[in-house]
Amino acid sequence: MPTASLQHYGESRHDWTRQQVLDLFALPFNDLLFTAQQVHRVHFDANRVQVSTLCSIKTGACPEDCAYCPQSARYDTGLEREKLMKVEKVLEEARAAKASGATRFCMGAAWRSPKKKDMPYVTQMVREVKALGMETCMTLGMLNDDQAQELADAGLDYYNHNLDTSPEYYGEIITTRTYQDRLETLGRVRAAGMKVCAGGIIGMGEGEKDRAGLLMQLANLPDHPESVPINMLVKVAGTPLEEERDLDPFEFIRCIAVARIMMPKSHVRLSAGREAMSDEMQAMAFLAGANSIFYGEKLLTTANPEANKDMQLFQRLGIQPEEYQQYADEAAVEAELAAQITEQQNDPFFYDAAK
Ligand code: SF4
Repeated sequence: MPTASLQHYGESRHDWTRQQVLDLFALPFNDLLFTAQQVHRVHFDANRVQVSTLCSIKTGACPEDCAYCPQSARYDTGLEREKLMKVEKVLEEARAAKASGATRFCMGAAWRSPKKKDMPYVTQMVREVKALGMETCMTLGMLNDDQAQELADAGLDYYNHNLDTSPEYYGEIITTRTYQDRLETLGRVRAAGMKVCAGGIIGMGEGEKDRAGLLMQLANLPDHPESVPINMLVKVAGTPLEEERDLDPFEFIRCIAVARIMMPKSHVRLSAGREAMSDEMQAMAFLAGANSIFYGEKLLTTANPEANKDMQLFQRLGIQPEEYQQYADEAAVEAELAAQITEQQNDPFFYDAAK
């Protein structure tokens, strides 16, 4: 690929066309990974990965019909339903997550949207987890303006609400809420001043044009989501997608690389489906620009072998977990980023794609 065509990659853009995105997907694999890695190094330390932990604060019995989800009440997956977790129990899990090296604690509830009576509990969770010195994220379904504001006032850092797939393929996966509903919740989260975590799932039978459509939707939002989880479908028995064909791992890695190029300053997260990936596939995902992972909730047990396995992989790859830094203001963030970039540019292995 001619070097000149790399010039504009690395800049934040919000005007991607589907053809431009498909052109990225069509690059030879090595060119795509090389480009993504260069873009990655413009904005991030390539050897640091942010670690989040996910805690299910209310499990199962969800009225929605997301075809991939074992928590939907419509599918018989054998999942045990649990009511909203007590605040003290959530804090116990958050402390364990922090001790395992997580800097962000994500709390998820299987709701269509939170009810008025739930809000005092979830906002208390946000305040108390923050007091432990962790970043907070919640995913509670659709929000109205007041709920978004309440969460922001409690100090919630991130709100997760995924778009899942392209607008065209969406109807194959969910019928109980619209794409527009999702975009409106994302808009409310932004308007209330919180950071956005939004991504999708790969391997649900969608085509490349749908993957391109999903990434186009995310990248063409007025602001890129700060976190972009790219999930690989976990085929759960009892859900409509249990028989879906296996995804070619290279298709998944391509998606990570294209997300990195299109949203150069976002944290691109490897989340669901990571357990099914080999160490080599995860390493390739980091090379393609993934720089955030989830420790699953089951990893919060005492033995925690999976977490140890993650740390061993980090060690084998020379990766450090990203530290949580609380900045007083945006100027401090810019200054820190500029310092990191200068440091990278002095690195003899750094190649400036913009020149
Ligand atoms: S809204 Fe969330 S919890 Fe409910 S079925 Fe969809 S993905 Fe599952």
